Amino acid sequence: MRRIRHAADFTPLVRLVRHEWSKCSILSHGMAIRFNQLVRLDAGNAPRESLRPLFGLDAETLSALLAELREPAFRARQLTEALYRQHITELDAISTFPSTLRRRLAGAGWQVGRPQIVQIFGSVDGTERYLVECQNGTGRSDHDTVETVWMPEGDGGEDGDEAESGEPKDTKSWSRATICVSSQIGCAVNCQFCLTAKLGLQRNLTPGEIAGQVVSVMERHKVEVGRDRLNLVFMGMGEPFLNYANFMAAVRLLVRAVGLSPRRMTVSTSGIVPGIEQFAQEPPDLRPKLAISLNAPNDAVRTEVMPINRKWPIQSVIDAVRRIELRPRERITFEYVLLSGVTDRPEHAQQVARLVRRTNLPAKVNLIAWNPGPGISYSMPAPESIEGFKAALAAEGVPVYLRQPRGRDIYAACGQLKRTVEG
Ligand code: SAH
Ligand code: SF4
Repeated sequence: MRRIRHAADFTPLVRLVRHEWSKCSILSHGMAIRFNQLVRLDAGNAPRESLRPLFGLDAETLSALLAELREPAFRARQLTEALYRQHITELDAISTFPSTLRRRLAGAGWQVGRPQIVQIFGSVDGTERYLVECQNGTGRSDHDTVETVWMPEGDGGEDGDEAESGEPKDTKSWSRATICVSSQIGCAVNCQFCLTAKLGLQRNLTPGEIAGQVVSVMERHKVEVGRDRLNLVFMGMGEPFLNYANFMAAVRLLVRAVGLSPRRMTVSTSGIVPGIEQFAQEPPDLRPKLAISLNAPNDAVRTEVMPINRKWPIQSVIDAVRRIELRPRERITFEYVLLSGVTDRPEHAQQVARLVRRTNLPAKVNLIAWNPGPGISYSMPAPESIEGFKAALAAEGVPVYLRQPRGRDIYAACGQLKRTVEG
């Protein structure tokens, strides 16, 4: 049998270990170029030579690796357990492994390689924003960082979701929590109201870097799988459906290896139709719930605030969503950012109600009052227009919830993630 000398010699490993460099500086180009590049899902792969992180490899790949080292099959189970359940960060912490095996792995260049929290910003409301360092294997000292947010008690976005019964009372300071996870460093989509858009796309995150954010935060807050009510929202930096393969590989790791339920996960997309179509093919027991960033009452306004709407207008997004086979009681969420004078008028509420009803989908609307950011010229909606908008949708029979702004003081709220190091 051919020996694995390097991750690049072994196809399944390459599939997972490589990062995806999409350094398209598309924000400086014209719209046509931008959209051409956007439709190339997972473009720009390049193998990474100098680091061999184990974290991010699935059980099958770990089995292949240990079989290659002529180790018995149970070693792969022990390694999977150590990485994803015991949350080890060093090879030496794999207590079930003999030291000779740990040394062999280290000698071959393997390391745990899980992203680490390097900076914490605490909000007065209990929210925490983290800078998470991804050891990107370039050998550079300035490792890439990404942002992740912890919201004890969530932000109201999960209200009205599938009923959760029979769960034990919690003795922690929080009874439920939500982790907001990033899928890319920066974002290429260029929504006019979003601070992350200002970064442009720096690069895609790997499956280990996406799942690693979750495990690092779980470890910090001692989250117990199967006991604590933990929700994940893939609503941090980036557009998950423009990093589709890595995003879904991370979900599979979080479900199969870490043990989290996909029913407690929500992925939000700005409406990348090819991504939604791929998502519709995923097995229902392995895919998160879906949220669509609608953010406007019609195509004209949506194109103004989300230029991506030119490529994939509202109806094309709805048509793609229709292909998804929903689980019992599952609903599609439409997110709607209220921008003063732009999307928050009474007639907009009527249009949104009509639009949502016409989809005939089991759906709810999550309203988000716009969170301000430097260099963005929109205004926050007045409290009366937020309440008025909500009441108008409710009166039209549309289930509607208001997401509470969490961690605004530390730039942790929706659309504020830009690796701001102050605050
Ligand atoms: N890229 C994905 C997921 C990340 S953005 C998407 O766009 O859906 C997550 C949510 O935050 C989206 O619904 C987006 O519309 C919203 N958002 C972005 N900027 C915001 C801001 N400044 N204030 C409030 N919500 C914002
Ligand atoms: Fe990207 Fe989402 Fe921000 Fe739009 S709202 S720029 S898709 S992160």
